[in-house]
Amino acid sequence: MSEDVDLPESHPRYESLLTRHRIEAGVDRGITSRQGLIAQGRGEAFDYLLGERTIDSADDAERAAAAHLLSAEHPVVSVNGNAAALVPGELVELAEVTGADLEVNLFNRTEERIEAIAEYLREHGATDVKGLTADGRIPGLDHERAKVDADGIGAADVVLVPLEDGDRAEALGEMGKTELVIDLNPQSRSAEVATVPIIDNIIRAIPNITAHARDLRGDPDAQRDAIDTFDADSALTDAERTIRAGDLE
Ligand code: ATP
Repeated sequence: MSEDVDLPESHPRYESLLTRHRIEAGVDRGITSRQGLIAQGRGEAFDYLLGERTIDSADDAERAAAAHLLSAEHPVVSVNGNAAALVPGELVELAEVTGADLEVNLFNRTEERIEAIAEYLREHGATDVKGLTADGRIPGLDHERAKVDADGIGAADVVLVPLEDGDRAEALGEMGKTELVIDLNPQSRSAEVATVPIIDNIIRAIPNITAHARDLRGDPDAQRDAIDTFDADSALTDAERTIRAGDLE
């Protein structure tokens, strides 16, 4: 990524420093909101306690998420300012492998920021980015927060929402959508209402969902198995236990 600074990969906090740099660059480019900086700090604290690794139950969740995206009629990957700043190319690749649409969907919505994120995704290979039409609404939310594309998230049966706000995650669930949520806090409302809560850093989660999707592609039995064997409550409990135990590796 051209915005990346020259950090030595041997640095013990390499991933964390890179992440911070990308978020900072995202704010400078008008992609990430200033609130996004705070959200990142919150996420980092949980990631530190998880040992900055993908725990086994999160890997199961990532496999189940891949299976849901592949077996959906109309899957959509929602992109906010933090997700775009951290994993733009990886999001484009995931959408390609699973046949999902990419839709920019912001909590603090401005046309400029949506356009900047769409452009950034195009620079990373996206051909069609939704989110600018905003002709659909999520019931139960105030006007600005309710906006979605009618033929994108509005029509989706499965939505992957990284770092989603709790109210919106709840409202999307009430619309009957299968929600795949990436959030490092197992007690966040978004994680609690998700069909598949993925308690992992988006930096690790997106490439791993793509790897599982490559593996599961063309195998409906394996997809069904990944979905049926995943248990959201035990994944949340496992992540919380890991964080509380603090047995860092
Ligand atoms: P709630 O979901 O309980 O309403 P919130 O929306 O108020 O919480 P914020 O601080 O706005 O919480 O959201 C940020 C959420 O995103 C936090 O739960 C944080 O753990 C998570 N998060 C931040 N950075 C990352 C990341 N890189 N990968 C995964 N999750 C992250």
